[in-house]
Amino acid sequence: MQHLKLLANDNRGLNELENGTGLVGWNEVTQGSILPSFEGDATNIAHLKSEERTYSGYNSYTATVASWRVLKPVYNRDICIDCQNCWVWCPDSSILSRDKQMLGIDYDHCKGCSVCVEVCPTNPKSLIMFSEQTLLEDALTQWPEKKKKEDK
Ligand code: SF4
Ligand code: SF4
Repeated sequence: MQHLKLLANDNRGLNELENGTGLVGWNEVTQGSILPSFEGDATNIAHLKSEERTYSGYNSYTATVASWRVLKPVYNRDICIDCQNCWVWCPDSSILSRDKQMLGIDYDHCKGCSVCVEVCPTNPKSLIMFSEQTLLEDALTQWPEKKKKEDK
């Protein structure tokens, strides 16, 4: 699994969500409970980047669902044109982008749905699905060539 820690205080994906963690399910939480999303004062938290916020252990940001995935998207920086299509369409906000530049995949939260691959417009695509076990460096060596236009 790739960990893309943007800052030292980034607590993304610390908790593995699976049986035996001692965490209760959403349907077991006592009515009236308050589960704070952030540790401490959350004033102006909307102005901070996600990795600068101190998320509490109750927030899904601190959880990882990487073990749910069978296929993963692999990103090829050499081909990407930073169009942001993948960032816009990802249903899990798992495309990491800063200042309109694609940075990579948040593998702690990506579910492997392949929507980002479908909407990537480059030739060849800058995102391709590989099996979860494939090493990122191996995937990059298997990248397809540019498809030629068919003769009319
Ligand atoms: S595979 Fe799905 S969840 Fe993962 S980054 Fe792509 S669009 Fe997002
Ligand atoms: S959709 Fe493809 S080309 Fe556009 S930013 Fe994402 S990876 Fe890059």
